[in-house]
Amino acid sequence: MNCELIKWFEKNRRAMPWREVASPYRILVSEVMLQQTQVVTVIPYFHRFMHAFPTVADLAAAPEEQILKLWEGLGYYSRARHLHACAKAIVALGGEVPSDFESLKKLPGIGAYTAAAVASIGFGQKMPVVDGNVLRVWARMTMDETPIDMPKVKSRYFDELSEVIQSVDSPGTFNQAMMELGSLVCKPSEPDCGNCPVAKWCKAYQAGCVADYPKKTPKKKPPHYDVAVGLVYDDDNLLILKRSDDQMLGGLWEFPGGKLEEGETPQQAVKREIMEETGLLVKVGKKLAVVKHAYSHFSITMHAFRCELQGDVKTPNCDRPWHWITESQLKDYAFPKANHKIFSAMKIVVRD
Ligand code: SF4
Repeated sequence: MNCELIKWFEKNRRAMPWREVASPYRILVSEVMLQQTQVVTVIPYFHRFMHAFPTVADLAAAPEEQILKLWEGLGYYSRARHLHACAKAIVALGGEVPSDFESLKKLPGIGAYTAAAVASIGFGQKMPVVDGNVLRVWARMTMDETPIDMPKVKSRYFDELSEVIQSVDSPGTFNQAMMELGSLVCKPSEPDCGNCPVAKWCKAYQAGCVADYPKKTPKKKPPHYDVAVGLVYDDDNLLILKRSDDQMLGGLWEFPGGKLEEGETPQQAVKREIMEETGLLVKVGKKLAVVKHAYSHFSITMHAFRCELQGDVKTPNCDRPWHWITESQLKDYAFPKANHKIFSAMKIVVRD
């Protein structure tokens, strides 16, 4: 099976910037970016990142604000902060990315998946990579009855594939081939089994029940929230607040606001939230935009209002960092995607 798989990969592999000029640092960055994110989305971010931080030392020395700005739009922002911490740890260790799985796993934010990818692709160690694609391929090949979203499945597949990979000469190529097979052939729906190099060894295909695998736990519908935010103006200046590192989207900037309480209108909610978050009294003006956005575990409708400061208090009373900035300075700060939808609706240009 391994021979056919690798032959197929050599013929069908897609060009990717981290494959063309491979180095442990570039593999590390690409693998962190690729977590929960498609290759086509990652490529322009990867190019920009490598241009700004060509070495691990450059990344370690960069300010977090610059890293988050370059990560803006890629999502799962804790990855960027962890990658920064990881670069600092590597520099503290002498500046070379560690070559073995166990040392890699000790780095901040590096789990078994990324450690195995760097150890195998960067250093030829016999460690299997189990990402979402590999989970699906292996579940079908072994006709596994356990739902693949159960946490123990990943570690069981890691153990099973650890045995398989022992007989492979080029473990990095094997891992990339498994992931590429999942992306290009063994797709979530309508896998192209007729052109699959491992069909002979695939139990689900041989049994004619590919559509029944992988098994998944039935999902509940994610909750939906209405959120109101205020673009608080004091003349030409606009108030932005920084999200705490321990929050979702930590380190990014936002406008004050929050969820509607029961029976509240968006206008009432935004006035209350701004007072609670900053101690500022505002007059809620016109609605600027209503945008919808889906996160992995919930979705929101965000109502954005123009608000004017009222009263004499102009300094937010707030634990988090804040700034008064002009609209033209918005591009210097990293904001979540939902905010960019507001900027688009208001025709504010925030990307160079
Ligand atoms: Fe996936 Fe079909 Fe190949 Fe099995 S034969 S690994 S189901 S593409």
